[in-house]
Amino acid sequence: MRLLNYINESDIETKQLFSDMIEMFISNGDNKKEAHYRKLYKEKFGIEYDSIKEFNPTVSLDKIYKKEDFKRYDDFLKYSEKLFKLRFKTYKGLLKNYNKKIPPEKVVSFHKTLGIDTKFDTPHGTEEAYVTNGHEVIYDKRYLKEKIPLELIIHELGHILDNRLSNISSFSNLFSKNNTSSVYELTPAEIFAEGFLNYVIQSKFLKSGWLDVYKFFNKKVPNLWKKEIKKLITYK
Ligand SMILES: [Zn+2]
Repeated sequence: MRLLNYINESDIETKQLFSDMIEMFISNGDNKKEAHYRKLYKEKFGIEYDSIKEFNPTVSLDKIYKKEDFKRYDDFLKYSEKLFKLRFKTYKGLLKNYNKKIPPEKVVSFHKTLGIDTKFDTPHGTEEAYVTNGHEVIYDKRYLKEKIPLELIIHELGHILDNRLSNISSFSNLFSKNNTSSVYELTPAEIFAEGFLNYVIQSKFLKSGWLDVYKFFNKKVPNLWKKEIKKLITYK
């Protein structure tokens, strides 16, 4: 402690240095070193070290805290775990059609009922599938032998719908920018297709998070589509 003798007792930086050390040992769960530095702190400044107050927010989906809101990383981890459990509990019902895969022949017949041709070809770069007009979907040819993810089928169907509505995504205000909750920067056509995917497999979520888009799809999706899509997503 020789160094400290040269520093003014009221030096704010010194106090900060000690408190950082103590907080670090608390965070690491090193009680021995924590106690040691607490003792030194008391000796030097004549007062008990007052630890940072615990920050234990009520875990709620209405107010989400960030890592920076926590003084200790451990507390943030505990919070994140609670939040994950809460989210999972809340949205579990929405996940039941997630990760579902449909055999290619079933996809071909589904498309046929909606007047859409299905083709299998070499992919465009990294794309799994693409749409160039309102009556044809082209899948990577590996899907001739593999089941096709439901999300991919519905996403491409969204592009078909957009095409059939004269590429409405390119001039409607609804799809001109990302909703604030979206983490990706998407083009209007992709926002449209993802919005359509949400409408189909997470409609409750879309309704509560982006009502205008929900209403749009509810009005624009033909009844035949709604009926056939329902059959497809409940396919076993
Ligand atoms: Zn797309």
